[in-house]
Amino acid sequence: MRLIILGPPGAGKGTQAARIAEHFGIPAISTGDIFRANIKNGTELGKQVQEITASGGYVSDDITNAIVEDRLAQDDAAEGFLLDGYPRTTGQVAALDAMLAKSDLGLDKVLALTVDEDAVVERLLKRAEIEGRVDDTEDVIRERQAIYRRETAPLVEVYGERGLLVEVDGLGAMDEVTERIVTALS
Ligand code: ADP
Repeated sequence: MRLIILGPPGAGKGTQAARIAEHFGIPAISTGDIFRANIKNGTELGKQVQEITASGGYVSDDITNAIVEDRLAQDDAAEGFLLDGYPRTTGQVAALDAMLAKSDLGLDKVLALTVDEDAVVERLLKRAEIEGRVDDTEDVIRERQAIYRRETAPLVEVYGERGLLVEVDGLGAMDEVTERIVTALS
């Protein structure tokens, strides 16, 4: 099973990705987590992406694509994966297509979590407080939503045209949403 989960920041992608991945026995691969771990460990990559991630901007496609290609080459991703937070631009869509084509593979489904923007901003402010994500100020959160709308929302249509899109309402209790997703993917 090769899946992508799409949705605006705060749609609950990370939580649902972990659950869906466990359900299907595949690794959940989050580019955001990879970047955060590198920043925390002070790696060269971490230093490169620290400023841009803190401001809410996107890391360059070149850096991001290379990281994903590396990660997908690891053994645990051989039978499938769930990508969370990637692809985020049409350039990344093309890069992922090329990576998969090399191994004659394709995507099974692209899951899009739909949520209301105000609900999402509220959720993110709460998460920033609980998780101590000090970079998640309201300005940064609003900027992230705007960037998502501009750069990533068009991917919903791209995958829709390929007949891969499964849209699920991301509003509601976490368990409810998980159930909706599992049903929609089964
Ligand atoms: P969010 O806070 O929106 O849930 P993530 O945890 O997925 O975001 O990612 C955190 C940050 O890492 C993003 O704001 C962005 O700067 C960077 N990032 C993650 N994935 C990508 C990607 N596919 N392309 C470019 N930048 C990315």
